[in-house]
Amino acid sequence: MIALLPDAFADQRAGLASVRMAGCFALMLGFEAEVAMPWTAARVDGSPVGWMAVNSSKPGRETAMSVLIQSSNDWAEAHLEDDPERVEAALLEAASELAGLDLARADHKALHRWRYAATPEPLGAPFLFDRAAGLAACGDWCLGSKVEAAFESGVQLADALLSEIAARA
Ligand SMILES: Cc1cc2nc3c(=O)[nH]c(=O)nc-3n(C[C@H](O)[C@H](O)[C@H](O)COP(=O)(O)OP(=O)(O)OC[C@H]3O[C@@H](n4cnc5c(N)ncnc54)[C@H](O)[C@@H]3O)c2cc1C
Repeated sequence: MIALLPDAFADQRAGLASVRMAGCFALMLGFEAEVAMPWTAARVDGSPVGWMAVNSSKPGRETAMSVLIQSSNDWAEAHLEDDPERVEAALLEAASELAGLDLARADHKALHRWRYAATPEPLGAPFLFDRAAGLAACGDWCLGSKVEAAFESGVQLADALLSEIAARA
């Protein structure tokens, strides 16, 4: 974000510099036959895996067996530039151990790297708005890591913009 904003936004840089985001790998697995997973979701500590869910157990997604594995943010940060094959293998090994199943035999595998997936240290303000420069920024990184934070940030900036427009009319 700092790189996108011009120097006219300089007074906001102190706050922006304190924002810290963290990555996450998501590994999607698809199975042509049912796999007997021991649970539908697991939050995990002390493993490359941070979260696992049987995606096909969610309403409306039951057509084919699917499992989503998310790395922990710390592990992703340490392995962001690793070969995708190595990342996939490490996540499969850790997830298989957790589930007590060989998940590497999935019929479909897709790995995605999210470089800016979570915000361990958000801005702490709902948006940035430099009235003189006519520039504003919002997003989950202002308030947290989840979609509620993105929504709250966007709504609050929209309110501020509407007030600004009304004041200038
Ligand atoms: C793997 C994963 C799982 C998640 N699971 C959940 C969950 O279960 N529940 C939940 O509440 N939240 C979840 N989140 C978080 C949620 O996705 C985010 O909080 C939300 O998407 C943030 O919305 P946003 O609009 O702030 O940013 P984004 O959705 O990231 O949107 C930013 C947009 O800006 C675009 N962009 C970036 N740079 C530029 C540029 N230079 N020029 C033009 N466009 C650009 C991007 O392409 C993107 O479309 C998850 C996130 C990840 C990565």
